[in-house]
Amino acid sequence: MAHMKAVQLVAHGAAGQFKLAELPDPQPTRGEVVVQVYACGLNHLDLWVEEGALPMPIKLPRVPGCEIAGRIIAPGEGVTGWKEGDRVAIQSNIFCGQCEFCQRGQESLCLNSVMVGVERDGGFAERVVVPERALVRLPDQVGFETSAALSLAGSTAMHMLTSRAKVNAGDWVLVMGGSSGVGSAAIQIAKQLGARVIATGSNEAKRNLALKLGAEQTVDTKNESWPAEVRKITEKRGADLIVEHIGGKVLEMAFNCLARGGTIVTCGATAGRDVNLNLWPFFVKEQRLVGSYGRNRIDLVHTLEWAASDRLKPVTDRVFPLAETPRAFAVLRDRAVLGKLVIRVATS
Ligand SMILES: [Zn+2]
Repeated sequence: MAHMKAVQLVAHGAAGQFKLAELPDPQPTRGEVVVQVYACGLNHLDLWVEEGALPMPIKLPRVPGCEIAGRIIAPGEGVTGWKEGDRVAIQSNIFCGQCEFCQRGQESLCLNSVMVGVERDGGFAERVVVPERALVRLPDQVGFETSAALSLAGSTAMHMLTSRAKVNAGDWVLVMGGSSGVGSAAIQIAKQLGARVIATGSNEAKRNLALKLGAEQTVDTKNESWPAEVRKITEKRGADLIVEHIGGKVLEMAFNCLARGGTIVTCGATAGRDVNLNLWPFFVKEQRLVGSYGRNRIDLVHTLEWAASDRLKPVTDRVFPLAETPRAFAVLRDRAVLGKLVIRVATS
């Protein structure tokens, strides 16, 4: 049997333990395809996998990597609509296609969702096997590394701004962590939907990047009075929409600069899962706090379309070869990044 190179997580820990392994080539069952991986992006989710800090058990050893772009090499039995050589992006939340939510196109709410790179082997490997419904065609104009730097965080932001919340022309949109994967995509999407964008950043390099991506103002979250800064910029109105993924104290403070009738849409809680919410101003000002999880298939399709027409550009910090995946994890853990880290598995 043929073999492939893969990076396996073999033990959990703040700095998990990895092994560069030779594994048997994955074989497709009915309805599955084998994809040759060209590039796979790193995400904060990978650090949670490394630490074992997710609510679901992770069976080890596990090949992480959930932002995969590649080419189909072996369509399995019963696969329709895909052939060898097709360029694809893989949707990381593999949905069942059967449940009531999937049938309504709300794959983000799938009752039987399985995360690739978490609950089944992912993309830090030369090949990966997934069900065909997880595939989205990669437009010709979108390179593998662009897809690997955009498809997960970009479609998360697309879901937040076009599916879970609405951006009206002229709205003030505050993007928390404007240099992050979700943040950098959210700035570009909000701007092109006609919003005026403010972004937060904890250092000058991050704030400059946010400005380059289309934010018209930035605020420094190291300064405790940042919500007051936002109110000043918006002439006391506050932000109509706040794109949040940090949680904890940051989410609590965000309410201090949320406009009347405004919405906070949140997709993460890296800084804390418990928050205090004062209900009085919340209902008096008719505000909304909206959850957002992953993406629907259509959000990924739109993300790649936007990338194809240059409306959405990735911000890539560094590209590593497959064998250096553990080093990429360490770099991400140290937060010494501006934009995405991408693993290049093969050159196209
Ligand atoms: Zn489903």
